[in-house]
Amino acid sequence: MTGPILPGSTLGVVGGGQLGRMFAVAARRLGYRVAVWSDDADAPALAVADLPTRAPYDDTAALAAFTGAIDACTVEFENLPADLLRAIEDRVPLRPSAAAIAATQHRGREKRALAELGAPLAPWRPLDAAGTPDAAAAALAAVSADIGRPAVLKTAGFGYDGKGQVAIPASGPWPDAALALLAAQPCVLEAFVDLELELSVVVACSPGGEVRAFPVAENHHARHVLDLTVMPARVGEEVARRAEALARRVVTGMGVVGLACVELFLTRAGDLWVNEVAPRPHNSGHVTIEACRVDQFEQQVRAVCGLPLGDPAVVRPGAMANLLGDLWEDGEPDWRAALAVDGARLHLYGKTQARPGRKMGHLSAVADDAAAAAEVVLAARAALTAGAAPTPRPRA
Ligand code: AMP
Repeated sequence: MTGPILPGSTLGVVGGGQLGRMFAVAARRLGYRVAVWSDDADAPALAVADLPTRAPYDDTAALAAFTGAIDACTVEFENLPADLLRAIEDRVPLRPSAAAIAATQHRGREKRALAELGAPLAPWRPLDAAGTPDAAAAALAAVSADIGRPAVLKTAGFGYDGKGQVAIPASGPWPDAALALLAAQPCVLEAFVDLELELSVVVACSPGGEVRAFPVAENHHARHVLDLTVMPARVGEEVARRAEALARRVVTGMGVVGLACVELFLTRAGDLWVNEVAPRPHNSGHVTIEACRVDQFEQQVRAVCGLPLGDPAVVRPGAMANLLGDLWEDGEPDWRAALAVDGARLHLYGKTQARPGRKMGHLSAVADDAAAAAEVVLAARAALTAGAAPTPRPRA
């Protein structure tokens, strides 16, 4: 094995979103140069890159220039062309590997890989693209005999944050949206999980085999998008131990070198089921910036570079609330009001267009316990839109 990639080297990140931006900030703090490649000219990570590449992902000249400039590479988004990932891997160390990333790009493949590792999953069945709504109805009828209803129909590829999902109610006709989804592309049908709580665990693995897991995060969603995280999760020690052990088993079993996050369902019956794996930092891990001894982005840098991993222990319980574009509906949010809330810390991603549902930033805080930290971030978020009606600004 080659030695560690030391500060002064150049790290590449493919994808230009906020996860890439926060990775780049952490890498630059550690003394690395950062090259960012995004196909979106306005991507927030490009603004903080030493070497920005704005090009489509099939641009071979961009590939040669990007890989020629970097010593190692990582990703901030898993839905990247497999050819691109393999081409990068042929030239420089890519962490996680193209194969590990590919395993998470398709729900069916991911679930099969997880099942082989012995990871417990909600009951599910693959469904091929049905072609027509009538064929979709027949296919749904056949598999729902096994899975039962209610259920969730999810596209097999390129889904995140609840995109490409349709709830199947306990009874009644198949929703038109479900028939259209399945007519057009392969899907999976998953049993609806009777959730006690959603949890996630970020795990880092270094090329030398060191593995460190962050404490378990507790996640609350609104409209299928993460809304609030607290860390450590308010679960008993036994559940936390099981969640961490399961996440370590999954991430190491999938051969991840670098950083990944395992999303888990805690059922009302007390079972832990793997929802999905993200081969990159995770929205729920943003709270580690304030709450932990090392944060997920610095840990990603360390893991990618083969440096000693940091101690991910919680220093003080923390909370994180997402700021979605909806908050811009009546104009610019009142930043002064949020920052006047004692202990609230603001992270904005530099996105110029605030669309409903788009992740624009987050608020975080630490306190004596997770509930108190959550109160701070929720109060700060409420303050953003609580004041007198601000000057309306047309929404982009
Ligand atoms: P996903 O994109 O699969 O992570 O789904 C986004 C969110 O939808 C999850 O975090 C859950 O809140 C919810 N969800 C997804 N699948 C299920 C399920 N089978 N049962 C209950 N809720 C689900």
